[in-house]
Amino acid sequence: MGFHKPPKKYGAALGRAKFKLNAGWLVLLAVCIIIISGLTIWNALHLQSAINRRTEAYVSDVSDQLCTDIDYRLSKVTKDLEMLGDSGGQPGLSDNEELLKSFLSRKAEILGFTSLIVLNSQGDVYETNPTGADLLALPGVQDSLAGKNGVSFLNEQSILYSIPLSTENYEEYSVLAGVRDKGNMQELIQAKSFGGSGLSCLIDLEGDMIISPTNSEPFLRLDDIFMKKSDDRVISHIYQMQQDMQAHQGGVFTFTAADGTELVLSYRPLMSFDWVLLTLVPANLISYDTDKYILQTYMIISGTVVFFALILAFLFRIYRNHYKELEYSAFIDHLTGGMNNAAFQLKCQEVFAQSPPGTYAVALLNIKNFKLINESFGSDEGNRTLEFIMRALESFSGPGEFAARAEADNYFFCMKENDPDTIRGRLRTIAETINDRIKIFDSEHETPFKLILRQGVYVVDDPSLEITIIQDRARTACWNRAAQEDNPCVFYNTEFTESMKREQELNDLFEDSLRKGEFQVYFQPKVWGKNGEIGGAEALVRWLHPQRGMISPGDFIPVLEKSGRICQLDFYVFEQTCKFLHGRLESGKRAFPVSVNLSRRHFKDPDALAKLQKIAEDNGVPTDLLELELTESIFFNDRGIEYVKKQIQEMHRIGFRCSLDDFGAGYSSLGLLMEFDVDVVKLDRRFFLDVGRKKARDVVTAITELAQKIGAKTVAEGIETQEQLDFVKEARCDMIQGYIYARPMPVSEFERWIDQRQSPGNTN
Ligand code: C2E
Ligand code: CA
Ligand code: CA
Repeated sequence: MGFHKPPKKYGAALGRAKFKLNAGWLVLLAVCIIIISGLTIWNALHLQSAINRRTEAYVSDVSDQLCTDIDYRLSKVTKDLEMLGDSGGQPGLSDNEELLKSFLSRKAEILGFTSLIVLNSQGDVYETNPTGADLLALPGVQDSLAGKNGVSFLNEQSILYSIPLSTENYEEYSVLAGVRDKGNMQELIQAKSFGGSGLSCLIDLEGDMIISPTNSEPFLRLDDIFMKKSDDRVISHIYQMQQDMQAHQGGVFTFTAADGTELVLSYRPLMSFDWVLLTLVPANLISYDTDKYILQTYMIISGTVVFFALILAFLFRIYRNHYKELEYSAFIDHLTGGMNNAAFQLKCQEVFAQSPPGTYAVALLNIKNFKLINESFGSDEGNRTLEFIMRALESFSGPGEFAARAEADNYFFCMKENDPDTIRGRLRTIAETINDRIKIFDSEHETPFKLILRQGVYVVDDPSLEITIIQDRARTACWNRAAQEDNPCVFYNTEFTESMKREQELNDLFEDSLRKGEFQVYFQPKVWGKNGEIGGAEALVRWLHPQRGMISPGDFIPVLEKSGRICQLDFYVFEQTCKFLHGRLESGKRAFPVSVNLSRRHFKDPDALAKLQKIAEDNGVPTDLLELELTESIFFNDRGIEYVKKQIQEMHRIGFRCSLDDFGAGYSSLGLLMEFDVDVVKLDRRFFLDVGRKKARDVVTAITELAQKIGAKTVAEGIETQEQLDFVKEARCDMIQGYIYARPMPVSEFERWIDQRQSPGNTN
């Protein structure tokens, strides 16, 4: 086979999904997970900011404490100097230079100054330990000369504290100063620097460094610590800090340093001088331990969320598969793996709604005698064929076109065409391609089975119709009698609906008419060709409807065949025939075989022959007076040749005769005669339409000879003219039936006809 099979991806999964999952539960679960994780993160963030606030408060507290210490230290130094100044002013001490020297040296040692200095604005200087600096130039000294306490730096290492000394002699102040190593203050700052994890320093109001904990490196370079200048939050913090410092206020803020670490910066003004204590501490100072747990909490939460998300994803997958399986069962034809009818209908609705009338055509394709494939080649081969045709239709689908197997061997094909010739041509190509590529053989036949696709097409001129009606129209066209092998493609027209209505009407009338005896049995005689005597008759039914008049069998027989009611009618005709024969037997008249037409439908009922036998028995008619006419279609029975052979055997066993009706009208082959054991062959009237042609005569002669050889009698049907009569006699047909002798007649008329016929001298 030449068409690809789509992967049956859903097949194996079918039946696996036992979960009754639906999207609502999954969404609910997802929402729960999102809410729980959101709440937890919210909580953790709040915990974090609470800890940050704690850290800031703690840093502020410690800085305040440190400020107090520093202030105390500075005021102590100033106090020491003041006390010293007071005692230096005692009489005798200031006048006696030697005494003053030793006094100051001693005091310097006691109070921990590296040098004590007395100086005035004239440049008189006394130092216990020479500093070598230009003391008058120091800003603190200048402050003290002006009457204020001052502080200055000597080289990098020392701080010079100075106080004014008032003198009686001078308007100006002289100055008492003490030098201290900066290390004292550094130790103080260092000691309090949060166990080494924080840093403190003193700066002046301009932000210049006064004391840092170590000498070697400048401790603070704000530019280095603060991140980019563009960080608005940091800039506003710095701005706020500058404002606060000018206003002698303290503050604290947290920021991210240039290296990415979170830091807390506190700034506290000192009381003693215009200095500010800056303290810088890692933000996780307090949360250092808790951070670990917070991180762990985060990780546990993330793990849990991931775990649930995975479960959710897994469930979602199951759900999706489950959904696909449902979709598969709902919309996929399991046998072919293609679309099923439900999917086809949905798709049609979708495309028809978007297109103007006459854009699409819906075709129904049906495989003629598909059951024969199953019967003769096995159902596997049948399934293979169905699948193959589905693939073929799919591969012949153009853009916007699609096909589906609706049920059994019926396919719908939605084509984007409206021109009947194009549609017919495309469908023919599809049918030809299928026959070219699929080869269904069995061991007995050399030529492959020919697939005939019956085709019914409805050009969708009204897309607003219900899709089932659209499909029905294609179906009506497909099953319309106009579909023949040479014209397998029938287009729907409104007449079909009309004729369907008529059919429906006839079916509706039938039962009532049968009950009321509106069906009558007519008899048409069969006459022996050799002597012109009556050899039998055929029972032919007539429908005499009180309102509609005589309805022709040609109109109602096919309708009743379709609906299956024909069997009832056949039994009725058979019974009436039996009654007729019984009447003749009863009255001692000569009886002759009468044939009754049997619809192929009876062959679906295994008890049909038994029922006929019973009717004959009930009416006391010997079965050999009854002949059953079978049309060739019976011989292509769904159940196979063997079944028909058995049925014929059964007829013979019961005693019925069996005739092959309409031989030559359809596809009758001589093979049929060999295959089936029939008693009579009825040559169809079309053999005799052209008796002038030698070939036609030769064919008839050959058939009669063949029939004789297999022991069957021949009946020439539909003989109307003398020429035809002469010919059938010459061709040695055993019996003749036709208008030339008599039309089918009601019983009474037929009886009269027989009487007349049997009167001496009338043997034409
Ligand atoms: P059929 O079985 O081939 O019956 C012969 C038909 O040929 C009859 O048509 C008969 O009236 C017609 N006929 C006979 N001689 C001549 C002739 O010389 N010239 C022409 N032109 N026609 C001739 P009818 O009675 O209209 O029946 C038509 C068909 O209806 C029958 O064809 C048979 O297939 C079916 N039929 C009739 N009665 C019954 C019945 O009771 N049961 C079933 N199942 N089918 C029936
Ligand atoms: Ca017949
Ligand atoms: Ca016939």
